[in-house]
Amino acid sequence: MNRTLTIALSKGRIFRETLPLLAQAGIEPADDPDTSRKLILDTSDENVKLVILRAADVPTYVQYGAADLGVAGKDVLMEHGGDGLYEPLDLGIACCRMMVAGPAGGQEPGKDRLRIATKYVRTTRSFYAEKREQVEIIKLYGSMELAPLVGLADRIVDLVDTGNTLKANGLAPLEHIADISSRLVVNKASMKMKHDRVKSFINKIAEARS
Ligand code: AMP
Repeated sequence: MNRTLTIALSKGRIFRETLPLLAQAGIEPADDPDTSRKLILDTSDENVKLVILRAADVPTYVQYGAADLGVAGKDVLMEHGGDGLYEPLDLGIACCRMMVAGPAGGQEPGKDRLRIATKYVRTTRSFYAEKREQVEIIKLYGSMELAPLVGLADRIVDLVDTGNTLKANGLAPLEHIADISSRLVVNKASMKMKHDRVKSFINKIAEARS
């Protein structure tokens, strides 16, 4: 039987904030993904490997079983939809809010359909559908804050932490969509086939977190 557990992580904040939890579960990576070009990292536990991915790809690798477990932001999970995944733990890291934002002190644009720029197309669509508001959504891949400044959109949907990025660009938060934090996700088949190993890993991380 394949005893290896493969855990999908993204570089940067999620990696940094997950490290102490992994360390308390006895898992220390052999390389630092911020300096190494390796995409598969061995760890101090010979049966645990880390794969380093773009944050938005983590749920897909776990969904298809290419990784047994992963750490992904709730924003990414809402956008992915969660098929094929369990989400057993809120890790309470990388916390922020998903907000609608627009020009600070701006007038209501007074249009039938607001234009909203975001990389969170699915989440934005369902947020406005629930409010029964017709909007036009423009998909962007980054720097959403620029869109209202150059007339591409009336509003943006983005993550807000301190609010400094919005403020620096003359924008203000308008509506709260969701509280965001990173979650541990598990492939549904791995949860069955590697139950003891996966369960014991989840328990160790849950203990480390509390
Ligand atoms: P802030 O200026 O502190 O409000 O941070 C906002 C910027 O950081 C935006 O560009 C967000 O997309 C990004 N950001 C804030 N929190 C997170 C997070 N938890 N994960 C990923 N990006 C974030």
